[in-house]
Amino acid sequence: MTKEIRSWLSDMDGVLVHEGVALPGAADFVRALRDAERPFLVLTNNSIFTPRDLAARLRASGIDIPEDAIWTSALATAQFLTDQMPSGSAYVIGEAGLTTALYEAGYTLTGAEPDFVVLGETRTYSFEAITQAIRLIQGGARFIATNPDVTGPSQDGDLPATGAVAAMISAATGRQPYFVGKPNPMMIRSALNRIEAHSESTAMVGDRMDTDVVAGIEAGLRTFLVLTGSTRAADVETYPFRPSEVVDSIADLVARV
Ligand SMILES: [Mg+2]
Repeated sequence: MTKEIRSWLSDMDGVLVHEGVALPGAADFVRALRDAERPFLVLTNNSIFTPRDLAARLRASGIDIPEDAIWTSALATAQFLTDQMPSGSAYVIGEAGLTTALYEAGYTLTGAEPDFVVLGETRTYSFEAITQAIRLIQGGARFIATNPDVTGPSQDGDLPATGAVAAMISAATGRQPYFVGKPNPMMIRSALNRIEAHSESTAMVGDRMDTDVVAGIEAGLRTFLVLTGSTRAADVETYPFRPSEVVDSIADLVARV
């Protein structure tokens, strides 16, 4: 018999919002979580924005989420690095979401003999910065990337993302990064720790089988797939694993909180 769901983790894009617009039921779902005082976190592999930025964006779309209920791959990366090496140093390619997370975790950001090269999402990849990252990795810095996604969405079509730039650095150095974000269940486990939740009484909601659902399964959570994002109902059968339940949208989960 399955345990009662006491805590919730939810992916952001494709579950709560799509291109900045709230999906039906998303605001109600979050309100239900807050009213019931359920521990919850909203997860995103996007490392560009700080939780404060993301909370403001969600609020503008009508979803009221406190910034401390948002868990990004940048925060998970900062947590991972602090666990690996407290007060270390890193050369960072990324935006405020990543640099702020590392500063707040006690890291020094430097291009001089850093312990780690940390690659995140940016919109302005610089040849000089990538060259420096490659040389530092060749010199012994450990290579970490926030997330393995090779493309990200935009209104004009796909954009190259962290995983694609990581592949370029890997080709030049012969070294593979350690990816912290989904589908690494590390992202889920660090989120559980953050809200002091237990895997057997926590549910993960996501729109992707190959990231949200597989990471949820590997971390031991109940998993809900919603069909408002990148996965169609017919796609589910093509995977060798399945979520606990498939629902049309987050609106179907409001009454389950
Ligand atoms: Mg998604």
